[in-house]
Amino acid sequence: MALNLVMLGPPGAGKGTQAERFASEHGIPKVSTGDILREAVHDTTPLGEKVKAVMERGELVGDDLMIGIVRERLTRPDALGGFVLDGFPRTAAQATALDEITASRGPVICIEIQVPDEELVRRVRGRRVCDDCGANADAFEHLPGALPPLCQNTDRCRSVGPKWVARSDDSELVVRERLKVYWRDTRPMIEYYSARPTFRAIDGKQPPEQVREALVAAVASALGKPASQLRSLAKNVGLQA
Ligand code: AMP
Repeated sequence: MALNLVMLGPPGAGKGTQAERFASEHGIPKVSTGDILREAVHDTTPLGEKVKAVMERGELVGDDLMIGIVRERLTRPDALGGFVLDGFPRTAAQATALDEITASRGPVICIEIQVPDEELVRRVRGRRVCDDCGANADAFEHLPGALPPLCQNTDRCRSVGPKWVARSDDSELVVRERLKVYWRDTRPMIEYYSARPTFRAIDGKQPPEQVREALVAAVASALGKPASQLRSLAKNVGLQA
């Protein structure tokens, strides 16, 4: 059995942060479609040029393109023992495609992180990302002082420029558009998952450490295993793959 996890929830709910930590603690890759697209835009690849304007408007990139990206990524060897998906699926067509891609790979655990809209707008307006490595920071958390001038994530980040930037799709106007798209296209899709025995919802208003604990407990309960066994589960499947 692989450790297949899908993080669901609106923009700013903390999916990326939690996905990153869960993935590194359990030895499985985090697959973030937003990160893949942002990297393509940053590197001005053909994919980046295709999606840049759509992302800046806060709209969704086409299903066929996104499904192709995720299909390719999830069939790489490092994802066979499990993965944490962040930002996909976002539409009913993507959810159906994910079922097909993962059909022979054990259960897919779906966790929805729930946070009220006004809190999301506040968080996203304060969100800064490292232009170099993509790490997230909360500008409001550091008030009245500024953010530390350098990201501390990697040696490179510790040694170059001030690199904290706001994401170009994090302006209040675009965030409201992204929330509108979320409630219209993505939230109904979550209903599709919520009837499954492997679906759990957790409260994302709590501090990140408590969300992390709730996430581990929810995944363990969805699998019917103690939390202490999750790591070896991912590892064992990785070895067999
Ligand atoms: P995120 O970082 O997940 O909020 O994604 C940033 C932007 O990338 C979104 O607002 C969309 O424009 C695009 N995007 C990311 N994932 C998807 C997806 N699964 N389907 C369509 N568009 C996506």
